[in-house]
Amino acid sequence: MANEYKKTTNLPQTGFPMRASLAQNEPKRLASWEDEGVYEQMLKKNEGHKKFVLHDGPPYANGPIHLGHAQNKISKDIINRFKSMQGYQTPYVPGWDCHGQPIEHKVETILGTEKFNELPTEKVRELCRKMAVEQVDTQRQGFKRLGVLGEWDNPYLTYVNDYDATDIEIFKAIFDRGAIYRGRKPVHWCSHCHTALAEAEIEYGDEVSPAIFVRFEMTTVPAGLEAWEGKLWVDIWTTTPWTLPADDAVILHPEASYVAVIHDGQAEIMAEALVEKDCAKFGYEDVELVRGADGEPWRMTGTELCHNKYKQPIFGDQGEEGEFIYADYVTLDDGTGIVHTAPGHGVDDYLAGMKFGIPVVMPVDDDGRFFKGDVMGTGGPWSGMEVNEANPKIIEWLRERGTLILHEDINHSYPHCWRCKEPVIFRATSQWFVSMDKPLADGKSLREEATAELNKVAFYPAHAIKRIGSMVEGRPDWCISRQRNWGVPIPAYTCQDCGEVVMNDATLDAVIELFRTKGSDCWFTDDPASYLGDACTCEKCGGHNLKANKDILDVWWDSGVSHTAVCRHRDNLAFPADMYLEGSDQHRGWFMSSLMTSVGAYGVAPYKSVVSQGFTLDGQGRKMSKSLGNVIDPNKVCDERGADVLRLWLASVDTSNDVPCDGDILGHVGEAYRKIRNTLRFLLGEIEGQFDPAADAVELSELTAYDQLALARMCKVHQTVTDAYNGYRFNVVYRNLYDYVTELSNGYLNATKDRVYCGEKDGAERRSALTVWAQILTMLVHDLQPILVFTCDEIMEFLPASMRDGQERAALLDWYQAPWTADGCAEKLAAYEHMTAARDAFTKAFEEAKAAGSVTEKTSQGARAELTLTAEAAAALSGVDLAEVFVCSAVEVSEGAELSCAVAPADGEKCPRCWNFRTLGADGLCCRCHDAVAAHQE
Ligand SMILES: [Zn+2]
Ligand SMILES: [Zn+2]
Ligand SMILES: [Zn+2]
Repeated sequence: MANEYKKTTNLPQTGFPMRASLAQNEPKRLASWEDEGVYEQMLKKNEGHKKFVLHDGPPYANGPIHLGHAQNKISKDIINRFKSMQGYQTPYVPGWDCHGQPIEHKVETILGTEKFNELPTEKVRELCRKMAVEQVDTQRQGFKRLGVLGEWDNPYLTYVNDYDATDIEIFKAIFDRGAIYRGRKPVHWCSHCHTALAEAEIEYGDEVSPAIFVRFEMTTVPAGLEAWEGKLWVDIWTTTPWTLPADDAVILHPEASYVAVIHDGQAEIMAEALVEKDCAKFGYEDVELVRGADGEPWRMTGTELCHNKYKQPIFGDQGEEGEFIYADYVTLDDGTGIVHTAPGHGVDDYLAGMKFGIPVVMPVDDDGRFFKGDVMGTGGPWSGMEVNEANPKIIEWLRERGTLILHEDINHSYPHCWRCKEPVIFRATSQWFVSMDKPLADGKSLREEATAELNKVAFYPAHAIKRIGSMVEGRPDWCISRQRNWGVPIPAYTCQDCGEVVMNDATLDAVIELFRTKGSDCWFTDDPASYLGDACTCEKCGGHNLKANKDILDVWWDSGVSHTAVCRHRDNLAFPADMYLEGSDQHRGWFMSSLMTSVGAYGVAPYKSVVSQGFTLDGQGRKMSKSLGNVIDPNKVCDERGADVLRLWLASVDTSNDVPCDGDILGHVGEAYRKIRNTLRFLLGEIEGQFDPAADAVELSELTAYDQLALARMCKVHQTVTDAYNGYRFNVVYRNLYDYVTELSNGYLNATKDRVYCGEKDGAERRSALTVWAQILTMLVHDLQPILVFTCDEIMEFLPASMRDGQERAALLDWYQAPWTADGCAEKLAAYEHMTAARDAFTKAFEEAKAAGSVTEKTSQGARAELTLTAEAAAALSGVDLAEVFVCSAVEVSEGAELSCAVAPADGEKCPRCWNFRTLGADGLCCRCHDAVAAHQE
C-alpha cells in the first residue's frame, strides 16, 4: 500500500514488538510477578471457589534440573493455570525428596569412606541435610525460570520435623491395621564389612567359582511315571554349593518341556532341550528316555510338575523336603533347565519362592559362617565354617554320597563389595515389611483394598490403570527397611535383656511426639528411656533396657506419605488430592508408595486422578546421555530461546508417549512460536488504540455473514481446545491452535484485511470485522495463556481492558467464554465448510488460469470467478460476500450438481488505493474508497 492514499488507510500500529527477545525479557517479567505476588493473587482471585489440588511429586534433591524435570513442572503449571482460569482455586506446593542413598553417597565421596565411617550418625545426617538444602535451592531456581507459579518460598521438604513425625504416624496407622511385620529378605551382604549393601554399592568383577551338577532324589512320583520302577531324581546345576544347606525348592520354566533320562537304571528329570548337551557332558551314553504307556517319551511342563517334592540335598535323611515351583526367568541355556533355590540367598529365588509360600531358610550368620547344629537352618556337617571354605567340602560330601554328577570351575562375573573389594554373598536378614495379603483389621487385604480403590481413580491415559493394577496384583510384600543413615528411622527397639523386638502403640506415640518436637536425629542420640517414659518396657521380660534399632525407612515411604504430611497437614490443600502427575515410571514408584501408604492407613486412594507421562528422548528416540552428547539442558534453552519456546515444545508433543527433543525440534517450535506471535501482533495492530470492543463492537446479529461464519469457526476451535485441556492433551491444544492460526492468516484475516485497512474507519463493515478480530484475539490470548505464559502476559499491556477481564496479569484471566456454543452454531459451521471448499476450488482454478495465461494479474484481485455450487451450498452461503472470501473482483454463482469454479480476468480497473478491480469514479477511486477518503477528510 505504498501509495499516496496510505495516510487515509487504517494502518496497523502496536507497541507489541515483532521480536520477542524472550531470553532477555522473561527474567524481568518473572521478577515483577514475584514482586507483585502474582501466584498469591491467582489464589485470591478464586478465593472461596472449589479447589483443584494438583499435588506435586517430589523430585530427588540431587543435581541441576534436566529436561524430564522441566516437562513435569511445565505440565503441572499448564494444568494449574488452566484450572485457575476455569475458576478453581489452585494451590500448588512444590516439594523435594531429601533423604536417601544418592545424597548420602555424595557425602561419603566428598569425605572419603574412612572418615565417613568414623563419623557418628548424627554428624553424617547433618552433612546430608546441608547437601540437600543446597540442591533444593539450585533446582528451585531452575523451576521458577520456567514460569511455573507456586509456593516456592514454602515448599515441602521430606526432612523437616513434622514430615519425620508423619512418616511414623502413617507407620503406626498401618501397624495398627495389622499389615506391618518383620521377616527375612535376601540382600547383598559383605561378611567382611558386616553390612548389607545396596545395588549401587556393588562392583562386578570376574571370579572363578565351582559349578556343580547335582541330583536330588524325588519323594513324589509325577503323573505318568507311576510305572517307572527304578529310582527317580531331579538334576540341578549351581555355582554356589554353599547354598545347598538352605535349599528348599527347585524352579522350572512354566512352559518348558521336561523329560526323564535313563542312566544306570535310574531316571533323572531335566529339560528336554538340554538332554543332548548335558548327557554328553555327564558322559551318559546311549541315552534313553522314560516312556509312557503309549510308547512316547514321558513329557511334562514346569507348570504341570509344580508341587512335586524331593529330598532336601543335605538334610533329606531327616525328612526335609523341597518343592517344585516355576518362574519365567529360568532359561534353557545352561545347567539342566531346573534351578536349585535357596530363597534366603538370592533375590530372584526369594521372589519366586514368595509366590509359592516357600520358607526363607537362613543358616549363615553376619560373619558369613554357618550356624552350628544338625538341622535345617544350620550348617549341619559344616557348622561354624565360613561359606567359601565350606564349598569344596560340600562338593566332596556330595561326591561321597553319589549325588554329585559333575564338578567344573567356571569364570563368571560376580558381585564384590565397593569398600573392601571382597566378594559378597546374598543373605536374608531381618527386615520390615508391609504385607500385601494379610487380612487387615476390617477383613480385606491391602492388595484387595488397593485394587478396589484404583478402580475409582481417573487415569490419563485411561489404559494406565492396567499397568499399576497389574503391579498391585503381582507385587510381593513391600520391604520398607534399609540399612543406611540418611532417612527416617524405623521405630523399633531391641530389649537388651532378652533380645525381643519392642514396638507398640505407646512407643510409637512417643516417637511421633519426639520427631515432631525435636526431629528424627534424636533417634540416634537420645536414650529411649528419656522420652519413652512408661513405654520403655519389654513386653516379654518386663525389662526397661531398650535400644533403638538402626534401620531406616525406604525413601519411597518418605515421598509416599506426602498425602498426609502435605495434603492433609497444610490448611490450604485437600485430601485426597485431585491429581497426581508424573512420569510413567512412577506407577512403580511414587504412585505406588502413595497408594500403599494411603490405602494402608485410611483405606482410600490418595488421588482422584492420575496423569502419567512418557520420557524425554532425543530426536532419534535415544535416551539423553552425556556420552552421546544429546542432552538438552532446559536452563540453557531458556537462556537461548526462552522458556515460552520450551513450554510450547512441551505442548506440541504427545506426553502420553515418550517425547522427542533436540535442537532441530526446538528450531521448528521456535518458528511456530514466531508464527503465533506474528498473528497476535497482526490482530493487535488494528485493535490497540483503534478498537475497544466494549465501545466499538457491533451486535453479533449485525455482523456480516462472512464475519458470522468466521466467528462460528472460532467458537468451534475454542470448544475443541477447551475439551483438550480438560483431557490434559496439550498436543491437541497446540495442534488446534497452531492450525487455526495458519488457517486465519491464509483465510479470514487475509480476506478481511482489505475491509479493515481500507474501509471507512468507523463504518459498520469495518467494525463488524474488528468485532470478530477482537473475539479471535481474546480467545487466542486466553487459550494460549496456560502455555505461553510470558508472551500472553506481555500482550496484556497492549489490550483494551475489556479484552483482558480488567486484569493486568495473564495468570489472572478467566477462561474465555465464546459467544456461541459449537452446537448453537451448527448451521454456520456447515456453511463455513462449504465456504472453505468453494475457496479451495477458486484457488485451484486461479492458479491453473495463471499457469495457462488466461489471467495475467499475479494477485487474485485481478480475477473474477464463475462458481457452481450445489443447491445446499448455495443456500448456506447466500448473503456471504464470496468475492471478499476469495479476495477477487466478483463471484457469479450458479447452481449445479457439484462444486466447480472457472476463473476469468476481472472486469473494471485497479483502484489505486485498495488494488481491488472495480468500476472507478471520477476521482479515480472505487466507490468504497471514495467514501472512506471522504470520511477521513471530515
Ligand atoms: Zn566389604
Ligand atoms: Zn525383654
Ligand atoms: Zn478502492
